[in-house]
Amino acid sequence: MRWGLLGGSDIAATRMIPAMRALGQPITAVASNSAGRAEAFAGAHAIATATSGVDELLSRDDVDAVYISTTNQLHGPHTLAAAAAGKHVLCEKPVAMDLPEAWSMVAACDRAGVVFGVNHHLPSHTTHTEIRRLVAAGAIGEPKAVRVFFAFELAPRLRGWRLTDPVLGGPILDLLPHVGSVVNKLIGRPLVTTATAVRQGSWDLPVPDTGATTLPEDACMAVIRYEGDVLCQVDVGWSVPFARNGLEVHGTEGSLVARNVMRADPGGTLELIDSAGEREVVMARHQDAYEVTLETFARSVSGDGAPAISGLEGLRALAVALAVRESSLRGRAVTLNLDPVG
Ligand code: NDP
Repeated sequence: MRWGLLGGSDIAATRMIPAMRALGQPITAVASNSAGRAEAFAGAHAIATATSGVDELLSRDDVDAVYISTTNQLHGPHTLAAAAAGKHVLCEKPVAMDLPEAWSMVAACDRAGVVFGVNHHLPSHTTHTEIRRLVAAGAIGEPKAVRVFFAFELAPRLRGWRLTDPVLGGPILDLLPHVGSVVNKLIGRPLVTTATAVRQGSWDLPVPDTGATTLPEDACMAVIRYEGDVLCQVDVGWSVPFARNGLEVHGTEGSLVARNVMRADPGGTLELIDSAGEREVVMARHQDAYEVTLETFARSVSGDGAPAISGLEGLRALAVALAVRESSLRGRAVTLNLDPVG
């Protein structure tokens, strides 16, 4: 399967290109909004073709699938264009800016008969896969509560649009879809959320002249009620350098406590605590989650199963983030609507 990259992004450079190459999945071309940036990106990453035209890349016969890592407002238009060109799509999160746009992307890919996956890597972490296996096997009885700790210090190289753009930025749109991708897959349907968001860091940044009068939040805490009255507590943010990340699932017969598993790199620890005591769950090998996502995607393209996170699952993960954002803005509980809209 030959890739075309839409977007010369940090995530493409740091994670996805290395993962594609580790798996022997060739990268044919990269497209950027600027010809100069496309050429610089192609040169830096040994990609044969650079173009500033998305349509030009999509018309190439030597591109079977596109990896879309442009900024969030372009995920929708680029997915629709790729589907129309008959290219399989692996799109970055958040899959879209709103739910009608996300539904239109799912429908377009269905109609075109192309595979549509979303690059939520966390559910493909070996530790997360093991947590789902243990919960499904009844190791903790009936799940009642989930805690997700996903606050850290934003890396200096990422302190751009994430902190200055009130539409694209903020950890709610950046991190909550990841949380949704994890907890939806583990527990099921999210129903209602209550959230509070603030801007608490003293970021010294030039604010772009977008006409915006507000800046995005940089921290948020939310509670999400899932089907079966399972409660999920979420902490996301960017101004706490010494916080540790983790995922906990507490059930009627036991608890699973994972540390250092809400991150890009493989690894982390997992403990099972029940009436027999506390013990570490040892996993033989921690696979790179981006490689698992790419392997699963390639298998799906060849007709073997679904992507690790499908377009529809990406939409449901986005729905969690949008409801959290609405709740934080309105100061009241928000009910999620996962039915087709638009
Ligand atoms: P970047 O800010 O690095 O890149 C996004 C776009 O910004 C690029 O496509 C590029 O546009 C443009 N750009 C990059 N560098 C410059 C520059 N120096 N000057 C002007 N424009 C520039 O984004 P990220 O890699 O941080 O994020 C990209 C997407 O990936 C987002 O949707 C994000 O949510 C997602 N993401 C996903 C992660 C995951 O683990 N799944 C982790 C991190 C991000 P152009 O292509 O036109 O040149």
